Amino acid sequence: MTDSACLFCKIAAGQIPAALVHQDERLVAFRDINPQAPVHVLVIPRAHVPSLAATDPSHVTLLGEMLLLAAELARSEGLPERGYRTVVNTGKDGGQTVHHLHLHLLGGRALRWPPG
Ligand code: 5GP
Ligand code: ZN
Repeated sequence: MTDSACLFCKIAAGQIPAALVHQDERLVAFRDINPQAPVHVLVIPRAHVPSLAATDPSHVTLLGEMLLLAAELARSEGLPERGYRTVVNTGKDGGQTVHHLHLHLLGGRALRWPPG
């Protein structure tokens, strides 16, 4: 369930400090250390899932909960009026650098599209 070498497993376990904005039995959310927007929060499962590419139908509840938590945090950060973005970078071409599934919640400025 956890990978002792994984940075985000360590954050979820409280072994590495992070600015937590939410924690429950299955999910943890914390502020990105290198924010790309005024609000930049990462939503992760406590369980070690390497990426979206490693998910299957057994993760359907977890994935739904991650999106719902992002929407809830967006509300508590005051983002829905102007809008915001949720992103899951996957693999090398997707720009994934931490190999523990995470959902980025970005808001507080106008974001460009398409991404670089
Ligand atoms: P990825 O590029 O894999 O989609 O996103 C990984 C994110 O994790 C990056 O935005 C990066 O800034 C963030 N990050 C990397 N290390 C840490 C850390 O130790 N603490 C926090 N809070 N964020 C981190
Ligand atoms: Zn992990």
